[in-house]
Formats: sequence, C-alpha cells, structure tokens
Amino acid sequence: MKIFLKKNEERRINIGHQWIFSNEIERFEGETSDGGVAELFSSRNAYLGKGLYNKHSLIAVRFLTSGDEEIDREFFRKRIKTAEQRRMKIHPERKSFRLCNSESDFLPGLIIDKFNDVFSVQIFSKGTEAFKDDICGILADDFGAKAIIEKNDNELRTLEGLEKKEGLLYGDNSVTEADIDSVKYTIDVLKGQKSGFYLDQSFNRTKIREYVSENSRVLDLFCNEGGFALNAAFAGCRDITAVDSSEHSIAAAKNNAVSNGFGFINFECADVFEYFDRAFQSKEKYNVIVLDPPSFTKSKKNVPAAVKGYIELNYKAMRLLHKNSYLFTYSCSHHISEKQFEEILVKSAEQAGRKIQIIDFANCSYDHPVLPQMPETKYLKGYILNIN
Ligand code: SAH
Repeated sequence: MKIFLKKNEERRINIGHQWIFSNEIERFEGETSDGGVAELFSSRNAYLGKGLYNKHSLIAVRFLTSGDEEIDREFFRKRIKTAEQRRMKIHPERKSFRLCNSESDFLPGLIIDKFNDVFSVQIFSKGTEAFKDDICGILADDFGAKAIIEKNDNELRTLEGLEKKEGLLYGDNSVTEADIDSVKYTIDVLKGQKSGFYLDQSFNRTKIREYVSENSRVLDLFCNEGGFALNAAFAGCRDITAVDSSEHSIAAAKNNAVSNGFGFINFECADVFEYFDRAFQSKEKYNVIVLDPPSFTKSKKNVPAAVKGYIELNYKAMRLLHKNSYLFTYSCSHHISEKQFEEILVKSAEQAGRKIQIIDFANCSYDHPVLPQMPETKYLKGYILNIN
C-alpha cells in the first residue's frame, strides 16, 4: 500500500512529528490494509518512509521509519532495545522505569513500564496491536519478563477501532515488589491505575526530600499509592497526611508505608474537595502540600472548566499553608500549557491573598521523553512554589 500526501503535508513528518492526519492524504495506491504498513510519499513522489495506516482514526498514519527496513518483530525488538539502552546509560541502577514511551521513543502507540521483571503494556495504535504477540515474545525472550500485563482500558483505543481490555498476557502473577529511589512499593499492575503505577513522577517525588524536616507538617493530596508521602517520610519527616479517593490506592499506600517502616503516615480515603472543607474548619496549617490531581480535561473544549478546577484546588491549598512554606503543584492535562498553568497559579495566589515564588519547575522523569516537535507528547508540568 502506498500513501501520497497533499502538497506540503510532509513538512511535519520531516521535522520529526510522528502523525499524518486523514485530511493530509491525497491518494492511495494499491490495496489499502487497515492497520497495515504503508509506504509514504510526498505530493512530488519523494519517498518519506513507512508508517502504520488506520482507516478509522483521524490519526491516519503513525510514522515508523524514514528507511526501508522490514516492519517485523526484529524492528520492534531493536526499537525497544534502543529505548532501554538510552535509559540504562543515564540510570543503569534502576530496575523499574518506563521502558518505552510511545511516539516519544519512536514506537507508535506503545507504552511499556517495567517493574523489575513484571511488565505492563499499553497499546494505542491498531497497527501496533497487530504486533502484540511479537512484543510479548520480545519482553519474555530479550528482557526476561516473568509476567506481562495488558492495561488496555484507555478511551483512546476506541478512537483507533480497538476494544478495551486488561489482563495477564504472560505469566501468572501481576503483583511485584519495586524499589524506586530506595522506597519499597508493592505494585499490583493489574489493579493499579493507568499503566499500574505512576512512574512519571519518580524524580519529582524525590525532590520533596529536600523540602521537609522532622518537624514539617506535610499534606499529600491525590496521593495514589503514597509516593510523595513515602519520600517525605524517607527524609525523616514524621507528620504526614495523605489523601486519595481510591480505596485500592489507599490500601496499597498503607501497605507500602508499613513495608518501609513508615506506619505513622496518616492515609485517608476521601475526596480532596471535601478534605479541604474539613481542614478549613479545623484550622489546620501545613508546611508542605503536594497537589497532584488527575487530568481535569481530555479535550480543548473543557479547558475553561478545568482552569476553574485548578484555581480552586491551588488557592485552597495555598490558604492551608503557613507563611514561608512550599506547594508542589502539578497538572497532567495536555490541553493546559505551562503558560496557562502559571496564570492559574497567579490567580490562585490572588484569591488566597498570598505571594508566590517559583523555586523549581519540572516535567516528567527521564524515562518519559517528550518531542518538542510534537506537542501532543507533552502533558506533565509541575512547580515548586514558595508561599508567603
Ligand atoms: N501523586 C500520585 C499520583 C496521583 S494520580 C503519585 O505520586 O503516584 C491522581 C490520583 O488522584 C489518583 O490516585 C486518583 O485516585 C485520585 N483522585 C481522583 N479524583 C480525586 C478526588 N476528587 N479526591 C481525591 N483523590 C482523587
């Protein structure tokens, strides 16, 4: 199958973007194969490379290579190995990390997280789904996987014409122990959220160690399985409360706390907005608050409502902080830019009647690269603010 693009539509591919949208295609040559490999050409017949075609999706082609190599198990093996080597070069000691981050690792719609020898796989591309067995084979043969879990319950699958499903693809146990920056976690990849556990915040969690002392009062809001709270405890802090509305997350977080000897952390299964009301009534004040909510908007049209939600969270958190204290605040909404998030923080400070300084800014950890030439790969932004 050959795909010819409209005039000038090769520009984005040439700068390293990884998608071709359906309205950028001029014509097809040969029999079109849904989910199959296509050869790509500019309007002037210049060869651009190969990609995976999906006739159901607005993302009609996901780019694979500008070369002409076969797209087979070996192709995927090499790409996954390259992604692993990049990570091993930076942190050879780490056993649990995102092994490949989809388009940002030139593996269209393929996310693999590694928790020791247990692997979680998410596939968001019909073309890549056709290689699922090969991918499992690679993880078992080349990466020594003991278990592989498919975490394919994301809505994005529906847009690709794929069904949503979760389950063990290989091995018989989805639970594993992971040591991440000297904190022990018991992770049930099948029951955990998204890929099973949020690895994107690994480095941001360790930063809290620099901002707490034994006497700090810390509040970890949207704590999931306890990452920020556990890192605060690791640094010697003893007065920690952590809140999440998921019963599974809180049970896992409590278990993690006990395994690390941090049984003193107070975990609460509650809605953060309700927790705020209670905290205001009891006049609690904190030295460090972490605000790491889920994405408030999956689309552009909901941005105004999301902005309101972020302002409410941030101004309330600021009001609960002592003078000269710290707010670790994050947004993982792709549709909220860094600039917009900073405006949100300014408005929140105004409503809270507080003065703020940015002390640090962060994206995802090193194992979640982004492509600046493909803004769709950007999502997480975080600020450490000094609150006065
Ligand atoms: N900080 C975490 C990741 C947070 S992910 C870490 O370091 O791993 C977002 C979390 O918010 C999820 O665990 C989800 O269960 C929780 N959540 C979503 N809505 C909530 C609400 N209204 N109140 C409390 N928790 C909520």
